[in-house]
Amino acid sequence: MGKMSRILNWMNKYKNTIFLAVCMAIHLTYMVVFRMLGVQLLSYLNFFSSCFYFYFLFIKRDSSEAAMLSSYFEILIFSTLSELALGRDYGFFLYIVGMSATIFYLVPSYKNKRFLYQIIGIVLAIVLEAVVMLSGISFPSVQEPLAPYQPVFYLINIGLTATIVMAAAFFYAKRLEAIGETLRYNMNHDVLTGLYNRRFFEQQIGQIREREKSPFVITMLDIDFFKKVNDTYGHEAGDEVLIQVSARLKETAGKENLAVRWGGEEFIIYFSNTTSEQIYPQIEDLRKQIEDMVVEVAGKEIHVTITSGIAIGMPDSNYEKVIHNADEKLYLGKRRGRNQVVV
Ligand code: GH3
Ligand code: MG
Ligand code: MG
Repeated sequence: MGKMSRILNWMNKYKNTIFLAVCMAIHLTYMVVFRMLGVQLLSYLNFFSSCFYFYFLFIKRDSSEAAMLSSYFEILIFSTLSELALGRDYGFFLYIVGMSATIFYLVPSYKNKRFLYQIIGIVLAIVLEAVVMLSGISFPSVQEPLAPYQPVFYLINIGLTATIVMAAAFFYAKRLEAIGETLRYNMNHDVLTGLYNRRFFEQQIGQIREREKSPFVITMLDIDFFKKVNDTYGHEAGDEVLIQVSARLKETAGKENLAVRWGGEEFIIYFSNTTSEQIYPQIEDLRKQIEDMVVEVAGKEIHVTITSGIAIGMPDSNYEKVIHNADEKLYLGKRRGRNQVVV
């Protein structure tokens, strides 16, 4: 993982705390700025908002979705009061607009209620703007000392809201990407063993054969007397055996070939561009490895063997027939006493 993506993962993990910290930093800054400009009323307002975030960050240490929802309403209230005090030219209502978008990301488990919170924000923004616009409320004592800096406040508030919305959208997209990757992996792999699953193999093999136009080998492998392993040591021990056998299969297949969990304790390895003379020694080696392998589960030592059938396919062979051949050879090996590779 690159440095950048590690930072992004970290930010994604602590996004709620980061959000609370950013809110607190903004309020503390405004508290100081308004105090310096002599507007005590707004300085106090920001002081109370800072206390709110201080409470969640350092006293309650709560960055849950409920805390996010509280901060959403804190922002709505703060923005409404600031907008009422200063009028429309300072852009404090932008926080309401920005948060109406962001709340969707911050409280994912609230499902349909998220829309309710968004609607509250949107309605509030419209009503507030209408009230401020039509009523012409103004507080000269608050506005006069700030008037020279009005454009600066407006631009800063645009910048901050746009950044918050952009960050939320960015991390939302990142999370969807990660979910997509997990889904794709689970769709193509067997979850227990990490090998490719049969669905993936059957979906890919047609295209692979068209592309390769060269001889190929299909090896079918089956664990011997596996039912006994389950009966003697339990199903979980059986799972552990499947995991460890699969790891050996994956090693044997390497990156260029496909190791597939075909069914319960039955596997296929598809070898590209090769012949059974080249593959036989590898599968014989795999068989020996598994014969010598000791699987330890709960202090018990489990030994298993595999039987394998190898079949070769010509460039124009039907792969299903080759699988069928490999299967017949596998069962020949079973009849001949198991723990062997049949070519
Ligand atoms: P043979 O040597 O003829 O292959 O005998 P076998 O006992 O291996 O074959 P059989 O087909 O009779 O039994 C396969 C067993 O594999 C039965 C089933 O319960 C078990 N099995 C299938 N999938 C899993 C799994 O995911 N986990 C575990 N623990 N067992 C599984
Ligand atoms: Mg078996
Ligand atoms: Mg079987």
